[in-house]
Amino acid sequence: MKIDLHCHTRASDGTLTPTELVQRAALQQVAILAITDHDTTDGLAEARSEADRQGIQLVNGVEISTRWHSFEIHVVGLGFDPESDALSTLLAQQQASREARARAIGDKLAKRGIEDAYARAKALCGTGTLGRGHFARLLVEQGLVRHTQAAFDKYLGKGQSAYVATPWCTIAEAVAAIHRAGGVSVLAHPGKYSLSNKWLRKLLGSFVEADGMAMEALGCQQSPDQRRFLLSLAEEHQLLISAGSDFHQPGRWIELGRGLQRPEQTGVWHHFGWT
Ligand code: MN
Ligand code: MN
Ligand code: MN
Repeated sequence: MKIDLHCHTRASDGTLTPTELVQRAALQQVAILAITDHDTTDGLAEARSEADRQGIQLVNGVEISTRWHSFEIHVVGLGFDPESDALSTLLAQQQASREARARAIGDKLAKRGIEDAYARAKALCGTGTLGRGHFARLLVEQGLVRHTQAAFDKYLGKGQSAYVATPWCTIAEAVAAIHRAGGVSVLAHPGKYSLSNKWLRKLLGSFVEADGMAMEALGCQQSPDQRRFLLSLAEEHQLLISAGSDFHQPGRWIELGRGLQRPEQTGVWHHFGWT
């Protein structure tokens, strides 16, 4: 049985509709799935009807961007009530910050001679949540970079010419809103922030201090060493473990449920009876 508690649809910067994503998860034999779009729960209702058809257990999910020191840290919420006022209020603020950031990125790209980036990213994104991933895809489509990671390395990432610092909520605010909505707070992809081990431990300390409950230790693109390291950090900080691919679009490396067979260790799914 595979478990994937981190992935994206067109409701944010993924390329599949919620229905297509759930169908793909079923083909990959994912039994427990959480869709965690950036700062929005808009894809969940559609996903739920397809999950019921496919016999997949769908856990409500969201991925919230937060600021911590000078870093953008992502906190995943799982198993919450999407109708909760505390959570919807926070997500509405995050959406406003996103919109302002997207306009500022558009202005910065215009200074680099890339015209109408905001309008074109918005068109790519459709009715979903506009993010840097849409700008990255645009830059790839324009032939300015070869792949989306290069768009971050060259334009959109921290320290680059189109980087915009965004006034995201704090880790503690994200965790509190998730908990008030009855959900579980999970530190997303701790290995992806390019932090030294010292800073990574500092981040885990802050997350625990903010009442955070779990961390992603199982991903689909990690070496056995990386996985062991993250599992040991979870144990050290007494955090539950979570598992997710962070799938955005069909491709060679990242696949729903890949490498995410139910592990021996107790995970959030076990703790909350999602099995
Ligand atoms: Mn994304
Ligand atoms: Mn993330
Ligand atoms: Mn993600």
